[in-house]
Amino acid sequence: MLVVQSREARKFTADEIYALEVVAMVLAEMAELGAFVGEGAALSPLHQQSVLLRGGPAQEGSAEGHVWLHEPRVVVTNPIAEDPKRELERLSEAVDELRVGVDKMLEISQNGDKEQLEVLEAYRMFANSKGWMRRMEDDIASGLSAEAAVEMEQSQARARMEQVTDPYLRERLADLDDLSNRLLRILTGQGKTDSADLPPDPILIARNIGPGDLLEYGRSLKGIVLEEGSVGSHATIVARALAIPLVVHVGRITTEALNGDHILVDGDQGVVHLRPEETVVGAFRDKIAMQAKAQERYASIRETPTVTRDGTRIDLVMNAGLMADLPSLGNSGAEGVGLFRTELQFLIRNQMPKRSELVTQYQRVLDAAGDKRVVFRTLDIGSDKVLPYMKHVEEPNPALGWRAIRVGLDKRGVMRMQLQALIRAANGRPLTVMFPFVAQFEEFRQARWEVNKTIDREKRLGHALPETLEVGAMLETPSLAFAPQKFFDEVDFISIGGNDLKQFFFAADRENELVRRRYDSLNVSFLTFIERIVERCELSDTPLSFCGEDAGRPVEALCLAAMGIRTLSMRPASIGPVKSLLLRSNLQDVRKIISDARHRGEQSVRPAVMEWLRNQS
Ligand code: PEP
Ligand code: MG
Repeated sequence: MLVVQSREARKFTADEIYALEVVAMVLAEMAELGAFVGEGAALSPLHQQSVLLRGGPAQEGSAEGHVWLHEPRVVVTNPIAEDPKRELERLSEAVDELRVGVDKMLEISQNGDKEQLEVLEAYRMFANSKGWMRRMEDDIASGLSAEAAVEMEQSQARARMEQVTDPYLRERLADLDDLSNRLLRILTGQGKTDSADLPPDPILIARNIGPGDLLEYGRSLKGIVLEEGSVGSHATIVARALAIPLVVHVGRITTEALNGDHILVDGDQGVVHLRPEETVVGAFRDKIAMQAKAQERYASIRETPTVTRDGTRIDLVMNAGLMADLPSLGNSGAEGVGLFRTELQFLIRNQMPKRSELVTQYQRVLDAAGDKRVVFRTLDIGSDKVLPYMKHVEEPNPALGWRAIRVGLDKRGVMRMQLQALIRAANGRPLTVMFPFVAQFEEFRQARWEVNKTIDREKRLGHALPETLEVGAMLETPSLAFAPQKFFDEVDFISIGGNDLKQFFFAADRENELVRRRYDSLNVSFLTFIERIVERCELSDTPLSFCGEDAGRPVEALCLAAMGIRTLSMRPASIGPVKSLLLRSNLQDVRKIISDARHRGEQSVRPAVMEWLRNQS
């Protein structure tokens, strides 16, 4: 940016502005070429300056480390070439190698998913495109090296990509970008690193990454920054399970960062500092130290039962879904697993797991839990959770579409297989099963009927039956809160899926950044609705829990407890902060604060509760 100051306030003429724009452009080009670098220079060249980039927080926590590019950028050091004939040969050899590579990928995927094949076919089409080749040959003829010609084509494709809004075309242009990267790697021999070269405290940087690749890196990563990604993506699910700070939607990160760069990741604020200044590093380290202190404090109350000042006992349990979650059961102080999202194990694979594989997985979960209760939620697929190996149905509104128990009841084979696997894994131990997204009593009845039938079949086959069996429902649509009382009498327990319930209560898509944060969970109407559900459950003595993200936010958890929720299920890392606040609070007081705010006609009780909390400390 060129900043111009004048002593007197004045208007610049169009000619002056044009002249300044030319000056700015020339200076920018010179800076890019490193003209101001060196002893005492005021400017540093590209890729050496510190940069602050903003994105969306996807997994909280802070991390300091060094950049590890999932697909490293190639640096072209020889932009100009003397011998165009030689360069044309180099390009042609590299393109041949690229085509062989793409053909191999196609061959491997022949039996795979149709969509994946289509993508690869398009990819091959680009690799064989005459226009692409001709443009690069023309660039070489004008004096560029083969690498520079590829890069030139790539930057033009990127410029086109910025203007295209159609998602299909954007993806195709992204393919082209990817092909150019491969070609550059072949030409320069750069980027053939493997994870043995990981820097100390690696922070992974990628445009996007699949859950499989991420699991391969595993806990060796200190943080993750994605240029794309989304809060509900599979990579996010895995990062959460591994408790690795993650920031998504960080524009430009893959072009700005170089392998080994010093980087700070703030997963709470969704901020990334690349090549940070010393003062920023100092402040950041202070923050990490404070968080570590808080963790120590939480560890000291790990075994303390959660009893509030007024003597109310609250059960804090954890959400899980991957094997990677299991060690947290002991470390976090969770009293059990309140929500085991079984679909996660289906999502991170590229083919449907076999029943025997499921039995082994569920057995391991139950073994790890010992005598702690595990609530297995049956497959919750559809909406944002799409299984790559299941036929994808295009739906206008997937969140309101064919998902969860609706798929289960229409595809009974899969539901039965999962129920059988659960019964066999329990092998005579207690078993708790929960059906997601139940919108009306009849759906629960049918699901329960399937459970009973599966039990009968397993008995006939000579398998051990669970010592006790509880069958519950998730309350995620407002309709279920108004079900006949008989539903509340028949169901063994209910868990409020606050993430979905809130999106349907306010008609605000939980995945849509434009509206996702628009309505406060401490909105009076929402809390009143929760209170009604508590009352209905009390009438029939039906155990009730809350397992959405809000259960893990201390202030929200406090208000939910004040509304009468006695079991909160959350991410393991949230148990310490939530317990710490609950131990210090009197729920009667909080209830009064909420009720007063309600009588004053306030929209959200948050300001009143926050004020009360400030006065407490
Ligand atoms: C919920 O909706 O609150 C819930 C716990 O389920 P999920 O987030 O997996 O949809
Ligand atoms: Mg849900």
